[in-house]
Amino acid sequence: GKEVTDIPMTRKDEIGVLVQSFNEMKQQLQKTEKMRKELIAGVSHELRAPLAAIRGFVLGILDGVIPSNQQEKYLTVILKETEHLTRITDDLLDLAKLEAGNLPINKTVFNVSSLVNEVITILSKHRVDKGITIKTVYEAEILLLADKARIKQVILNLVENAIRYTNPGGNISISIRELSSTISISISDSGIGINVEELPYIFDKFYRVEKSRNHASGGIGLGLAIIKNIVDLHRGRIVVESERNIGSTFTVTLPKE
Ligand code: ADP
Repeated sequence: GKEVTDIPMTRKDEIGVLVQSFNEMKQQLQKTEKMRKELIAGVSHELRAPLAAIRGFVLGILDGVIPSNQQEKYLTVILKETEHLTRITDDLLDLAKLEAGNLPINKTVFNVSSLVNEVITILSKHRVDKGITIKTVYEAEILLLADKARIKQVILNLVENAIRYTNPGGNISISIRELSSTISISISDSGIGINVEELPYIFDKFYRVEKSRNHASGGIGLGLAIIKNIVDLHRGRIVVESERNIGSTFTVTLPKE
């Protein structure tokens, strides 16, 4: 784009005020343009690595460089990489819908306790592989009126993060508390934690703590931004408490109806 320089401001009257707001608008536009460019560069970068891996292994199999008794191993890697790409594109799509005010919320009554159990089952392989223990503290039936698929996404993402950012052998505790008009779901981990200075930013889109530490795992820093939006759409709240090398607790509080 063409660089536009500030209009020099010499007057103190209405024209001067106008000049000042034009200059501010211009700065805002340049900032948005810079963010847009960074977004495209960042997303392209995140898509390249899995695509290069998939391409390489497929070529290896087609060319016969990878012997048939090794193919299953490489096909498993290809599957993992496509799942990673699916997660990134799903996240981008959700974010685009949220920002356009286009994410429909379909509320039904469901049992949150069963939903949490379901999420734990979905993630059990990942958890067992890391030797992580999950302790659950909740009644067998706690009813909630909300968008079941979206709340599942919220819990899945938080428990996934808890497993991902906890060292092998660690502990996770999930509790659900029912009050007169709200339900709170807390996910605590004995993981690596988040520095106090970083805490205010972790719900920002594309924000990732120490970008390198979780390379090739997780998404592209959209998970928590999407969760926060979903919780907001339910008029709920999400808070985090964390201490570096001690662990993190994410608590989602939702109105019962
Ligand atoms: P990502 O898709 O990169 O995991 P998220 O939006 O889910 O992005 O999380 C943003 C960042 O917050 C992550 O990169 C990670 O560094 C940090 N984070 C999220 N959950 C936890 C947790 N339970 N413990 C420590 N760090 C966390």
